[in-house]
Amino acid sequence: MIVIIEIKDLRVSFHTYFGEVQAVRGVNLKLNDNDTLAIVGESGCGKSVTALSIMRIHNMETTEFKSGKILFDGTDLFKLSEKEMQNIRGNQIGMIFQDPMTALNPSMTVGNQIAEVLLRHGRDANAKRLSSKDAKERAIELLRRVKTPSPERRANQFPYEFSGGMLQRAVIAMAMACSPKVLIADEPTTALDVTVQAQILDLIKEMQSERRVSLIIITHDLGVVANIAKNVAVMYGGLIVESGAIGDIFYRSSHPYTRGLLDSISRKNGAKNEPLRSIEGTPPDLVDPPAGCPFTDRCEYAMRVCKDHMPPESALSETHLCRCWMLDPECPLKLERRKL
Ligand code: SF4
Repeated sequence: MIVIIEIKDLRVSFHTYFGEVQAVRGVNLKLNDNDTLAIVGESGCGKSVTALSIMRIHNMETTEFKSGKILFDGTDLFKLSEKEMQNIRGNQIGMIFQDPMTALNPSMTVGNQIAEVLLRHGRDANAKRLSSKDAKERAIELLRRVKTPSPERRANQFPYEFSGGMLQRAVIAMAMACSPKVLIADEPTTALDVTVQAQILDLIKEMQSERRVSLIIITHDLGVVANIAKNVAVMYGGLIVESGAIGDIFYRSSHPYTRGLLDSISRKNGAKNEPLRSIEGTPPDLVDPPAGCPFTDRCEYAMRVCKDHMPPESALSETHLCRCWMLDPECPLKLERRKL
């Protein structure tokens, strides 16, 4: 398996009026070639910060990359100059943002915005830069490919003339314009009506298999994860608390937080009238994060050791990792097996 992105011990902080927010506190992740990795968790757990660090598009006045490496195809992205990063963004790593309305320039036609990406990065069959005419034609072709009705007419319209679903299709067309190796989708369906969410996910999957692109999808929605991901990383309090193949997380989850997330969604085979459970409490303050397990205050199994000592990562299988003291061989408490 070829690893296309490898994140090693990433630590990212934001400097705010309230102090230093330790948003990401030592994340390790791998994305394999032609694979789909979902990063899941509540708002503020560090999932978007982790993924956006790959693109290096944070506000650099307030963001500090404390330590770590992000390797893309073996190249350490933190060692590249801003100019070199510009060649990677949009060209080799594409991005789909949560809100398509704010992702596009309201004063430019949608066709021109896609063409602009092609003019900057696109090449013809002879590896020459595209002409404006060719870029515009390719933009229309891309709009057609993402199933935009009347793409010639739509290419000349402005973002406000599109519906949310149509706009997200245009953003996907723009992200795929230069056939990137990696696509990062940050909550790509959250801002959309439920009726179009499934269509957008299907389109992302279609584009992914057609172009063999590796995908990182950031979401709080386990329904989205089940629909699209092969591997999952569950984040909480700036850390990955559990990761594994989709089956490890949905059927063999071993972290109380992952269990809580799973219990909070409805299941097809759930008992009739069974109420959905919520996870009581709130996530930790990352200005002053706990020394131990970040889930301690909300965990029904919390022990004395949890509060003061960070649980180590335990390997449950070749693919499945979990950070919980209950997995320590000496621990008398064990999480009961989930009934399927
Ligand atoms: Fe709960 Fe302790 Fe496990 Fe954290 S380490 S999830 S507090 S049992």
